[in-house]
Amino acid sequence: MDGAFFADGLKFSCTRCSRCCRHEPGFVFLSSRDLELLARGLGVDGGEVVRLYCRDVPVDGRLRLCLTEKPNLDCVFWENGGCAVYSWRPLQCRSYPFWQSNLSSRERWESLRADCPGVDAGEMHGREEIEEWIRRREREPLVVRSQNGA
Ligand code: SF4
Repeated sequence: MDGAFFADGLKFSCTRCSRCCRHEPGFVFLSSRDLELLARGLGVDGGEVVRLYCRDVPVDGRLRLCLTEKPNLDCVFWENGGCAVYSWRPLQCRSYPFWQSNLSSRERWESLRADCPGVDAGEMHGREEIEEWIRRREREPLVVRSQNGA
């Protein structure tokens, strides 16, 4: 990652347009902490979150725990014009767009504007904050499950 291009920070403010959570297939992978937060917020146990709202997705020969989608490809938690679990949303959603993959180069960052009107607009986020989002994702590894779903 070449951090030099965001040494002076980057602008981002989510407009809640929902383009990243509706109408198209996508993957929201969960960490153990994400599961705990969702379970607490929804008032159920972690097993129930997995059963009702998750699927296993094969990645590099292993299964990762991922939110399901509705038949119309909206996120399972998208309802009534927004995110039903916004306060407990997974770290992948909270940290967007400050993901390592999006910060690999200025070109990659600028390419996000095509799909997200919040990129390069609104609030300025400093380098420290951006790097902390990356570190947080490293500290919260994703759930990896065995082939039998355990
Ligand atoms: S596409 Fe961007 S602006 Fe729209 S909801 Fe997603 S993060 Fe927010």
